[in-house]
Amino acid sequence: MLRILFLIALFNFPVSVHAWWDSGHQLVCDVAELHLSETAKLKLQDLLGGERKFAEGCVWPDTIKRDRPETGPWHYINLPPDELEVTASYCPEESCIMKAFYEQLAVLKNTSAPTELRKEALMFVGHFVGDIHQPFHVGNAEDRGANGYRVIMPSGRNQGMHAVWDGYIYNHALDTLRDDFNRVFFESFYTQAESLIYDQNIYAWATESRKIAMSDSVGYKDQSIKKIDRQYLDAHKQIVIDRLALASARLTVLLNGVLSN
Ligand SMILES: [Zn+2]
Repeated sequence: MLRILFLIALFNFPVSVHAWWDSGHQLVCDVAELHLSETAKLKLQDLLGGERKFAEGCVWPDTIKRDRPETGPWHYINLPPDELEVTASYCPEESCIMKAFYEQLAVLKNTSAPTELRKEALMFVGHFVGDIHQPFHVGNAEDRGANGYRVIMPSGRNQGMHAVWDGYIYNHALDTLRDDFNRVFFESFYTQAESLIYDQNIYAWATESRKIAMSDSVGYKDQSIKKIDRQYLDAHKQIVIDRLALASARLTVLLNGVLSN
């Protein structure tokens, strides 16, 4: 079954229209929606009320940070520089992505909660599953998740390392793989999806991200990399594709479980 879907997705999925990290979120949610059971798909569309596509909804939490500043800390967690394991003890009082994820998941599961709140919860959950797979949403506090770790891009532009992993590597993957992007992405998606079980342990997902952020080649641990060249983008593009694919696969399994009855 998965292999058949692979072929359908490969030829029909418009991945190449995406650009920038908003599109990373859209990709995760589009692919998850495509793989939902019929029951889950109907429930999802019902909750959204035909107002917007799920993929658009998954970008919405980034657009409300100014109006609802209390949601700002919901998108990440920071750790001390030498820590690799994400645990609840690192979640500050004003919240973090772990706490926000479980709170929103509880609202989504609660069928007696007001529809408007459950709709928001669906969009938050879709968004957070994407965020938690981005290594620098599990960065260090002192440089605000690598936003303060500045590097020079191939264009000469001064940029935070956070943004390199938010969008530049993804865009580089799209630019260099071109027509092959769908194949590489969905190969990763189906390979990872086959071994997944219904799982809501996002501490483990965040720990994976943390270990990537702190791995030698990424350059964050000792902030040794000052310039991002083509070689750096090439060397890390498969990691970004794999994280997006895994986020999509996990979101599919999660929503199929939550929206199954
Ligand atoms: Zn976010």
